[in-house]
Amino acid sequence: MASRPFAVAGAGFAGAVVARELAVHTDRRVIVFDERPHVAGNCHTERDEATGVMVHRYGSHIFHTDRQDVWEYVNRFMPFRPYIHRVMANTPRGMFSLPINLLTINQFFGKTFSPEEARAFLESLAEKRNGEPANFEEQALRMVGRELYENFFEGYTRKHWGCDPREIPASVLKRLPVRFNYNDCYYDCVFQGIPEGGYTELVRRILEHPRIEVRLAQKFDPAWCGEFEHVFYTGPIDAFFGFRHGRLAYRTVTFQRHEARGDFQGTAVINYTDVRVPYTRVHEYKHFTRWEQHERTVAFFEFSQDTGPTDIPYYPVRRPDDKARLRHYYADAVQTRGVSFLGRLATYRYLDMHQVIAESLDFAATFLAAWHDGTQSLPTFTPTVAGLIARQQV
Ligand code: UDP
Repeated sequence: MASRPFAVAGAGFAGAVVARELAVHTDRRVIVFDERPHVAGNCHTERDEATGVMVHRYGSHIFHTDRQDVWEYVNRFMPFRPYIHRVMANTPRGMFSLPINLLTINQFFGKTFSPEEARAFLESLAEKRNGEPANFEEQALRMVGRELYENFFEGYTRKHWGCDPREIPASVLKRLPVRFNYNDCYYDCVFQGIPEGGYTELVRRILEHPRIEVRLAQKFDPAWCGEFEHVFYTGPIDAFFGFRHGRLAYRTVTFQRHEARGDFQGTAVINYTDVRVPYTRVHEYKHFTRWEQHERTVAFFEFSQDTGPTDIPYYPVRRPDDKARLRHYYADAVQTRGVSFLGRLATYRYLDMHQVIAESLDFAATFLAAWHDGTQSLPTFTPTVAGLIARQQV
């Protein structure tokens, strides 16, 4: 049985990156399974037939990272074109720039504050309490006070997560900074861009290797694990174990397509923070590829809802009952020999593309060192997840 292949379940970034590292650094074949008819998972891009615009089928994906090795890694497979993401918020009080920055504060309150004046002003509005903020709402009230919270965060968060913002962890808001300068870039990262030919072609190129075989429209069955040298599973962790501790909750999003001439909204993404507007965002993909010319345009209105058994899981909800279930699944995973769990769905974390790639590269290096040494117990999780489990911070 010396030449059993490796199996990778899932052809998103997590699976593609680990598959390539295995193919390059061993002499084994690597079989990659994906239940969908395309690679790239939720980053999937394709040309809209009617307009020719490259659309992100599962919502806007903007590549951003501070890690030079991750940036160089993706650029090896496809050139990235410069793109800086700027988001507008359509709020009950009008259009503002997001994340909240000095221009947002000055325009919202009709002021001309300097950075230090704005900081002092927000501090005077912030609700003061001792201890760590227990949830999203507390975090927001401490950062920006009630008026900005209600106009920018409360309605959007209720729509996006489908619950009271007090049920959402404070860490979700930490994704959005508050800036006391005029920097209005959504991501304050060293490297940012859009792959010239789309994410699906980029992932296809990562997977292009003589020892990699990609089997699309074929769902990996955990019962096959024994046939492989080792399995790298990037699907939902609860599905791997047949949902035996119950289902982990996800939010899913759906899109309504709208075609128009020219320019529909003047930018790539506008958030709708008013709870009375049924959609959360509108994506107009033409604005990601300014080097292309298209007469027509296509916009997608995003709606958020709970995930049913047949819906595509997007955002792990991570309420206390989910976390309790997750602890059981993590314990099961650690007991499962011959399988490693990688990526957003298999570790049930809110991860961006660059974080997934970084973890897959780091994990592949750790795994390969142990495998080449003939170590008996190969790693189940990345050191980050293993650390969270060990410190009981799940
Ligand atoms: N958020 C908000 N108002 C906005 C944008 C974001 O309240 O206009 C909150 C919301 O709870 C969201 C979180 O901040 O889930 C993180 O936003 P991000 O833009 O990072 O979400 P993603 O692009 O990953 O969907």
